[in-house]
Amino acid sequence: MNRLRAGYARFRTSVFPGVAPALQKLAHGQAPEALLITCSDSRVMPEMILQAEPGQIFPIRLAGNLVPRPGVDPSGIAATVEYAVRALKVADIIVCGHSGCGAMKELMERAHTHDLPDVTSWLEYAGPSARWLRSSLEEAKNLSDAERLQLISEANVLAQLDHLQQHQAVRDGLAAGTLALHGWMFDIPNGELREFNEKTGVFEPMVVELENERLVA
Ligand SMILES: [Zn+2]
Repeated sequence: MNRLRAGYARFRTSVFPGVAPALQKLAHGQAPEALLITCSDSRVMPEMILQAEPGQIFPIRLAGNLVPRPGVDPSGIAATVEYAVRALKVADIIVCGHSGCGAMKELMERAHTHDLPDVTSWLEYAGPSARWLRSSLEEAKNLSDAERLQLISEANVLAQLDHLQQHQAVRDGLAAGTLALHGWMFDIPNGELREFNEKTGVFEPMVVELENERLVA
């Protein structure tokens, strides 16, 4: 805890003066560019990875970056998605999975979830996808555990994009052409983002343009 408190001290003295004008401007409202749905994992740091300024990213963070389908229960996730699309009018929604995801490991190793009942029910609640994801693993028996984890994590991102499209606000935004969906994966040891390419059907390293140089991030 002391390190966090010391971090706050550094923020106040070194960082805040630089961002104060932006924060004071934002005090009256926000207009984020994107809704970013990613895992709670402490090693995924969206603002750092994307070098985002205050007010740029509207985040939802939760175990396994899962988006329940609309329906039965009142859902904070559904409310946040609706608010981002209808009130804040974000132009993009990104679902970002990551390597070494504990929630995806739980999906793979169901026998280990006996002491995590809430995780188990969350994984089931958030997905008919859970069953689909597991069945996709059945067909990949000859892969290593690491390859299977990557496969299930990538498939999970696509499943959650599908769930998102069942939310009315998202459907309306897509139909109006004011909203786009993106599937990303963050590789923790390499610091690399890969994005799903609908044409090739695979996650590919994100290609970015920076000061006229073509870089592969
Ligand atoms: Zn995770």
